[in-house]
Amino acid sequence: MTAPDLVDLSALIDDAKCFALVRRHRWPEGVCCPACGSGSVVRDGFDETQPHRQRYRCKACAGRFDDLTGTVLAGHHQPLRVWVLCLYLMGLNLSNRQIAQELGLSGSDVQLMTEQLRHGLAVKLPAVRLEGEVEIDEVYVVAGHKGNPAAVAKGGASAAVAGWRERRVAARWRRTSRRSSA
Ligand SMILES: [Zn+2]
Repeated sequence: MTAPDLVDLSALIDDAKCFALVRRHRWPEGVCCPACGSGSVVRDGFDETQPHRQRYRCKACAGRFDDLTGTVLAGHHQPLRVWVLCLYLMGLNLSNRQIAQELGLSGSDVQLMTEQLRHGLAVKLPAVRLEGEVEIDEVYVVAGHKGNPAAVAKGGASAAVAGWRERRVAARWRRTSRRSSA
């Protein structure tokens, strides 16, 4: 008997508390309309299939929305508690395959969920601002350019960099504005 058979984690999680968690994080100052930003919002019953998913109506723009409207969690067939658990297991650095095993899902489902969760979390982060001296990691000279410096000179260094950048989207930028004194 494997661990998931022994403990069905998602069955132990309270859906109502998951929705409360989303509300608390999404609207720490109180519910506001995702369309117009107004805080003049009234509750408008619950979702028909998810009884803890609160619906709202905006008095300013008459728009309707619910706890998950406009989030990566909207419009998916997985219950919210599965998303919350997925996020938790991601935080423990589990692989997609391990998460799939824990939650009894397919690897491709989990792949999609973790991608969306990462995207959803990333858009909340403030845009990175580079200041001071900036270093680019893992720069390398494209083999073709090595033997043909004239073409590189003709095309200009920026063209070479543009080509390199396309192939190396994973290039990491490092902020060095506060360098260690080491
Ligand atoms: Zn509104």
